[in-house]
Amino acid sequence: MGKYIVLSDSSEKHSAEELARNSGAHWARLGDKTVVWTASEKWTGFASKAIQAGISPDQAEGRELEGQLYLVIQTGRAFQDEHPEVRIVVEKGRYLVADLLPEEVSRLSESKNEWWTVRPLAVDSVIMDIVKPEARLALPGLQANIEAISQATYGSYLSSLVDFQTRHSLSSQFTSAAAWAVNQLQSFGYQAEQRQINVGSNSSFNVVADRPGSESGTRKLLLITAHLDSINIRDGKNAPAPGADDNASGAAGVMEIARVLAEHPAKHDLRFILFGGEEQGLHGSTQYVSELPEGEKTRIAAVINMDMVATLNTELPAVLLEGAPVSRSLMRELAEAAATYTSLIVQVSENPFNSDHVPFIDELIPAVLTIEGTDSSNNNVHTANDTLDHINYELALDILRMNLAVASKLLEIDNL
Ligand SMILES: [Zn+2]
Repeated sequence: MGKYIVLSDSSEKHSAEELARNSGAHWARLGDKTVVWTASEKWTGFASKAIQAGISPDQAEGRELEGQLYLVIQTGRAFQDEHPEVRIVVEKGRYLVADLLPEEVSRLSESKNEWWTVRPLAVDSVIMDIVKPEARLALPGLQANIEAISQATYGSYLSSLVDFQTRHSLSSQFTSAAAWAVNQLQSFGYQAEQRQINVGSNSSFNVVADRPGSESGTRKLLLITAHLDSINIRDGKNAPAPGADDNASGAAGVMEIARVLAEHPAKHDLRFILFGGEEQGLHGSTQYVSELPEGEKTRIAAVINMDMVATLNTELPAVLLEGAPVSRSLMRELAEAAATYTSLIVQVSENPFNSDHVPFIDELIPAVLTIEGTDSSNNNVHTANDTLDHINYELALDILRMNLAVASKLLEIDNL
């Protein structure tokens, strides 16, 4: 049996971790919340110790653990909606810490689906961090690109996508949305086409748009991606699935960045991909990665993925960069760009889950999911309520500026 306490510590000193270490307790941190736990017999009044150290405990004293602590990662509020009975210890939107008995863990592993996962909580670890990189001097060449990001055009792409009513991967509306995207990308001057993918025993499409770089010899390849499809998980394939945040916000972001980069000189190859079949289990991105020739995989310098970039789930606009050790330098570039070109708070996590960055990371290709910051979660995703009313343009445009800044910079680097 064990006990735990949750401590709030927004300073950069991470005193809660130190307190745990000095007391022989375990800890895990999600942003400004640190959960500290030990065996009950080793419990030594952490609440008063925390107050002495200048940290506020979220509860008056330690609580008994009924089982063990687990990390839950969810899309929207999928896990909490499906399992309101589960004891949540820390809630940070996409990431939760839950207290689970062994029988609950096995019951949950049987009912597992695409939209949430339960994993053992890594001991003494940072699940999600808030980073504050120094702003660099803005590069004059990039500033013009940053200023070209427009709410009018972004908003028009977003509305066009939502107007299809649904973009369920197996619907005729999805086919129309894919054709619309190909047309737009061609009108910007890219080589764009639809490529068929399998979604179970049915088929759908990815949209792929290319522009070769100017450097002769071996060029690197930069990918900017988002899933085009949407879903209504309650009411089925024919139900309204406007998917404004999930993921018209990201797909319109791909279109807007493509528009701005259309005239931008680039040494390296640039590719935009709108994936299909994401909501049924990352089908478009998984098949895309599995079909890449080995030489093409090593040519990919970076994958910047956008999935849900336009709902405010934090007090101040924030972006979450979700990657893995292979994408650390790309995450650093993105965080620096956020500090230089936007007013976003930057959260980072190396627990990749359920978006199109995952198949790339699994092949050790540097990929990062850029997604709205997560202190709470958008509970409209995957329903008919994921509409334009809930879109926060200021947040979305800042995430686009960050991604565009990094893309513009990477495309011009000599030895990328
Ligand atoms: Zn999504």
